[in-house]
Amino acid sequence: MQNLSVEIINQLSDNYSYLIFNNNNSSSIIIDPAEAEIIIDSLKQKKLDLDYIFITHHHKDHTSGVLNLLKEYPKVKIFSPSELNSLSINKISDGDILKTSLNEFNILSTPGHTLDHIVLCDYNNNLLFAGDVLFRLGCGRIFEGTFEQMHHSLQKLFNLPDEMKVFCGHEYTKNNLKFLEYIFKNNIILEKTKNKILKDLNSKGRSIPFNLGEEKKCNPFLNQECELGIEFKQRNNYSNSEFFRYLRERKDNY
Ligand SMILES: [Zn+2]
Repeated sequence: MQNLSVEIINQLSDNYSYLIFNNNNSSSIIIDPAEAEIIIDSLKQKKLDLDYIFITHHHKDHTSGVLNLLKEYPKVKIFSPSELNSLSINKISDGDILKTSLNEFNILSTPGHTLDHIVLCDYNNNLLFAGDVLFRLGCGRIFEGTFEQMHHSLQKLFNLPDEMKVFCGHEYTKNNLKFLEYIFKNNIILEKTKNKILKDLNSKGRSIPFNLGEEKKCNPFLNQECELGIEFKQRNNYSNSEFFRYLRERKDNY
């Protein structure tokens, strides 16, 4: 373990890109770059080289910065689950273990939001880069896959260690919170969660990263039997997959 730092870089209106580095060498990794300039500024300020770009899925708001980063750092290695125009990439898929000069990533395939979607797990440092699969108090929209695929992908994340810190692709937490308040009116668990989130948002201006173990207790998209949703689920006699589908459909139309 190398004592990694993760800098959260705001991108576009509500995207996050992540810069990973340490204080021992000039190596760095960027995840899901949308806007290259702000990333290049940060790299220069820290006197870092960019060695690796990792992509979680093909959407433009996670990839549009790649080309300009490549122009500035021609030796950078790009790891992506699918082709990026005509760029030369290293394709990554489920089960791959990638050693970088900073850490090791386990790749998990998580289709649903898109079919190519993967998440990056760094078990030694307890970091999970979840792209658009899992958000705080929510999950990604299903664009390419099925409800079953998305539900299964979220279950994969549910089975990861509680200690993991989750870095997701967007700041959607406030809206996710509003939706849960609308569905689960006057829920005491939700009230507690809300206070924690408002504290994070007020002090840091963002709700990221969040702890996976805590999320398992209050995110009904991630865990249909969580304290927050279990009573609602039982009252309506839903199976876990039916409850997931119900919530995702309500959210789509919210
Ligand atoms: Zn996306």
